[in-house]
Amino acid sequence: VPFQTAQVEKINMTIEAGKNHYSVYIGHHLWDSLLFQSEVKSKKIFIVTDEMVEKFYLKKFIDSLKDKYEINYFVLPPGESFKTVLMVEKIATRLLELNYSRDSTLVAFGGGVVGDLAGFLASIYKRGLSYVQIPTTLVAQTTAAVGGKTGVNHALLKNAMGTFYHPQCVIMDTAFLMSLDDRQFSNGLSEVIGYGLILDADFFYWLKSIIFDNTAREIQNLKKIVFHCCRLKKSIVEEDEQDNGRRAILNFGHTFGHAIESLTHYQSFLHGEAVAIGMRIALTLSQLLGWISVEEVQLVIDVLLKANLPVQLPQSITVNDLMTAIQKDKKNNENEQRFILLKSIGEAIISSRIPLELVRNAIESSYSFR
Ligand code: MG
Repeated sequence: VPFQTAQVEKINMTIEAGKNHYSVYIGHHLWDSLLFQSEVKSKKIFIVTDEMVEKFYLKKFIDSLKDKYEINYFVLPPGESFKTVLMVEKIATRLLELNYSRDSTLVAFGGGVVGDLAGFLASIYKRGLSYVQIPTTLVAQTTAAVGGKTGVNHALLKNAMGTFYHPQCVIMDTAFLMSLDDRQFSNGLSEVIGYGLILDADFFYWLKSIIFDNTAREIQNLKKIVFHCCRLKKSIVEEDEQDNGRRAILNFGHTFGHAIESLTHYQSFLHGEAVAIGMRIALTLSQLLGWISVEEVQLVIDVLLKANLPVQLPQSITVNDLMTAIQKDKKNNENEQRFILLKSIGEAIISSRIPLELVRNAIESSYSFR
């Protein structure tokens, strides 16, 4: 577990986004209270965390910092269904009762839900206070914690309300990933595979080999996954911080995935699982457009299945339901539906001129394994 070993192999990456620049520290057994103290100068910190992290790490974390800071915390129940405005208000009530001011620091200590929600709260509480991301899941370390997007869900739309608000720093200790259960680990692999598909064919084929060898959870591979995904994300975020252009490719599989999540009321699938089904639909659509081959689609499906991810649309979602739901996607402009598709493995394109009949066909053929 973290907190016991001295830091090893620290990677320090700086994100430049507009006026913001901040450090992302990555390493195995990286946690060090001195590192935290060098970044956080306020007297009071408030930790937002979840039940999983509370069970394994919260006490040790607080013990390592309690001599230096006044500390309070809030524990979220697990899952996307609690990533709501209501929960934001509930935590804000605690902050107000305990007199947290703008020079206090919020700490998002947990998975993607914790990071998105705490980041959103930090961006609006008294018009903004600093926050630190300490992501503990593979999803959070490889996607959510880098890039400054915050948000909460609405019953009608995933991440319907949110802000761009960068943390003061991000501390990623890959040792946290050792305690993830298999389902949570697979959940994270989904977006990791997505990075390979949209940006880096070599990375995709390397992932394929470690997934088929069952070595994805080995420490050397974990470190390589987290560091490489952060490097890919950094390059995209620095190019298009506000998501007006190329950053949209990171949403490969998400138009369908978010629709699947909201249609199942955030209860049936973890985010990465819904995205896996979404990527499968987007791959099939790319194949129907003649960009990638049937064999390539099948190869990706096999990798997703080997990673214990779902690739089939559940029967409870009809083609019409999904067609209607994807029209609410945030990536759409007023007049056009945008899709993130693959030109080839390792190369994504954003396209707004896709015949809806083909989209329908791609959805229809995604109820089966092949
Ligand atoms: Mg995602």
